[in-house]
Amino acid sequence: MSNEDDKKLRDFVRARIRSDVAEGKRAGQVATRFPPEPNGWLHIGHAKSIVLNFGVAEEFGGTCNLRFDDTNPSTEDTTYVEAIQEDIRWLGYSWGTRLHYASDYFDRLYEMAVELIAKGKAYVDDQAPDEIRAHQGSLTEPGTESPFRNRSVEENLDLFERMRKGEFEEGQCVLRAKIDMSSSVLTFRDPIMYRIQKTPHHRTGNRWCVYPLYDFAHGQSDAIEEITHSICTLEFQDHRPLYDWFIEQIELKPAPQQIEFARLNLSHTVMSKRMLRQLVDESHVNGWDDPRMPTLAGLRRRGYTPASIRGFCEAVGVAKRDNLIELGRLEHEIRQDLNRSADRVMGVLNPLKVVIENFEDGAVDELEAINNPEDASAGVRSVPFSRELWIEQEDFMEDPPKKFFRLAPGREVRLRYAYFITCQQVIKDDRGEIVELRCTYDPETRGGDAPDGRKVKGTLHWVSAQQAIPAEVRLYGPLFSVEDPTSVEPGQSFLDHLSSDSVEVIPSAWVEPSLERAEAGQNFQLERLGYFCVDPDARPGAIVLNRTVTLRDSWAKIAKKK
Ligand code: ATP
Ligand code: MG
Repeated sequence: MSNEDDKKLRDFVRARIRSDVAEGKRAGQVATRFPPEPNGWLHIGHAKSIVLNFGVAEEFGGTCNLRFDDTNPSTEDTTYVEAIQEDIRWLGYSWGTRLHYASDYFDRLYEMAVELIAKGKAYVDDQAPDEIRAHQGSLTEPGTESPFRNRSVEENLDLFERMRKGEFEEGQCVLRAKIDMSSSVLTFRDPIMYRIQKTPHHRTGNRWCVYPLYDFAHGQSDAIEEITHSICTLEFQDHRPLYDWFIEQIELKPAPQQIEFARLNLSHTVMSKRMLRQLVDESHVNGWDDPRMPTLAGLRRRGYTPASIRGFCEAVGVAKRDNLIELGRLEHEIRQDLNRSADRVMGVLNPLKVVIENFEDGAVDELEAINNPEDASAGVRSVPFSRELWIEQEDFMEDPPKKFFRLAPGREVRLRYAYFITCQQVIKDDRGEIVELRCTYDPETRGGDAPDGRKVKGTLHWVSAQQAIPAEVRLYGPLFSVEDPTSVEPGQSFLDHLSSDSVEVIPSAWVEPSLERAEAGQNFQLERLGYFCVDPDARPGAIVLNRTVTLRDSWAKIAKKK
């Protein structure tokens, strides 16, 4: 049994479902759902919920619905509905025909509200929203009953009907459940069920001007869809008795079993949609799919694969208590995945010219390079070698310290897949900056080994200057400079923790010509530099590469130093 299987067996959500199935509850059926609100793009936290809900359904031979909980027309939009579907598909999950919207149930929910009024369990309250809030009480103080609480059933039915017809203004009145203003369960203190909103809805248009609150829609939507296990995050624990209460009063059967788990928190980023929206709206990032965003669209553009995200979600597992997961764990997953799957290519970020003096001008030697040492089926490609090459500036030192094994005056190194070269001369400009190296190569070392058995300590990546193609390379670091950007001093905001160097743009790098055919979204390892992904943003004459992750976990150490 793999580690991951073991984790799943032990996780309390699956354990609970397994025992329900064993006891024959709901005839042994398992039906889950993923219920996003279409008011923002999905992030890695949502991925955890998706992987859990779709994963559980698959493992238990059940079903998983996609349901948009679209009860708030003022923040929701079809562009989000579409982006969310694209992201779930990309992650590798399919809901088939099981696409639903809470707005499909607006008629039924309205009838349920009327039924509660008729049973004396709901009333129209004319208090202003802040008045209602002020009278909620606290954990230690009971709430205060509204002066409108004891209206007659007839009056309430009439008022609610008139609310629906648009006779009142937004905020003028609401429909509240009549439960218990002194209940120790705060959600039982006459929660609001319906409010007036004169905003067109992205699906129902102007048909409604009263909308159910999430709490009055979510549980019943689950029940209508015959969800057996309603898996959600911990903040809904206190709402569970309320959902059960509504369902009981309306005798809507069967009721789902809600199970709460801890939401995913990832270090050096934020996961609240409100904050992510603020980052976008105030242009701290370039849109929801900025490669620094923890959104699925951002991660995709950064070069994360669906498998790496699914692997991460399974690896962190399902817990009952909140915790903070190190960003390094997500990076570990993508490194592992790309190490197996990404082709290796060569590129030079900060170029230094090398002229091979004894290589014929104009000649091109096509050398064979291995695409992926982890995957023989990836084959080989040819890489051109010629008289003028680019190497990385930092791979040369005029006056090297002891442990520097790369190129230096008089020293011999290997150019990967090519030849041994020796540095003969250093050429500088007027200001004393090194602009070119004059080198010689040993034709006997073609392919990278010397027949006489002599060794070199350094192997460098390089590209042939004549055939190389220009690239803009974007190197990303964490968006925030602290582990938990939401922890702030009074008067501060999470934005104060934005890192000032989360992206470094290298405008004129060179990559080998095989990348000419690369398509947006394709992943590569640039040898010795990291994993990169082709960005959809091509510049005229240049490709754009996003660094997904470095080859080794380097920034965790840097972050510590800071
Ligand atoms: P926010 O509170 O930032 O607006 P949300 O949780 O309300 O986000 P929804 O669209 O309502 O966003 O979330 C859909 C589902 O995804 C819910 O079931 C929710 O519990 C789950 N979810 C959201 N964030 C996380 C997270 N960080 N970890 C795990 N599950 C999450
Ligand atoms: Mg929510």
